[in-house]
Amino acid sequence: LIADSERGGGTISDILIVIAMHTEALPLVDKFNLVERHDDYVFPKGVPWLWYYGDYKGLKINIVCPGKDKKLGVDSVGTVSSSLVTYAAIQALKPDLIINAGTAGGFKAKDASIGDVFLVSDVAFHDRRIPIPVFDSYGVGACQAFFTPNLAKDLNFKVGKLSTGDSLDMTPQDEAAILSNDATVKDMEGAAVAYVADLFQIPAIFIKAVTDIVDGNKPTAEEFLQNLVTVAAALDLAITRVVDYMDGKRLSEL
Ligand code: SAH
Repeated sequence: LIADSERGGGTISDILIVIAMHTEALPLVDKFNLVERHDDYVFPKGVPWLWYYGDYKGLKINIVCPGKDKKLGVDSVGTVSSSLVTYAAIQALKPDLIINAGTAGGFKAKDASIGDVFLVSDVAFHDRRIPIPVFDSYGVGACQAFFTPNLAKDLNFKVGKLSTGDSLDMTPQDEAAILSNDATVKDMEGAAVAYVADLFQIPAIFIKAVTDIVDGNKPTAEEFLQNLVTVAAALDLAITRVVDYMDGKRLSEL
């Protein structure tokens, strides 16, 4: 484990990848040759959270997922479970860098298309409306991703802002907030992971692949399911390129 005082100084060694859905995570687990671990110093007994670990080209790669809901058996998507699993993983693994990888809805008005993979510049919430001075900004929770201009340029990423909320669909109020957040992509976890990373001053980046067009004419849930597998493949390719890029680099070189 790297001491806090050394963080940012040496080359990147411990990467924590937070992924909400198992379908998104499994190809990467294979790709990086990770194994599922159950050591209870990382996650307490009884939680559905998943931890995969392995050494890939000298980098220590950890993938964590919130796992299946204990009552309903579906992936525990959304802000509550992703912030908890991120918190626990930071405490136990002390990563140098967090990557939140996942699918997202994209806005064609902002030049997003199905299968695009975005590197996120800024995150904010769109469903935390608290119309009291200062609490309103707290609710929006705007925050910048770790600035990685070289990564964006060298890997030719589209860059855009991300807006997070706990619903897959979008109410008119959400829509107004997303517009005001100037977002190109919309997900259910990013700003929550950013909040936890920021609490512990761990640099975090967000890679989001577009499964559905929010301002299009297809129903989101249908379009999402139709595209999930192919877009997850595009996401996995992007994450592999990002991890390969980090090999031997310092945080300050990203
Ligand atoms: N029906 C799906 C539900 C997944 S929820 C299932 O079979 O499990 C959608 C997941 O993809 C969340 O993790 C969210 O971050 C992301 N996502 C994709 N498109 C989205 C959109 N339009 N709005 C919000 N989140 C989206």
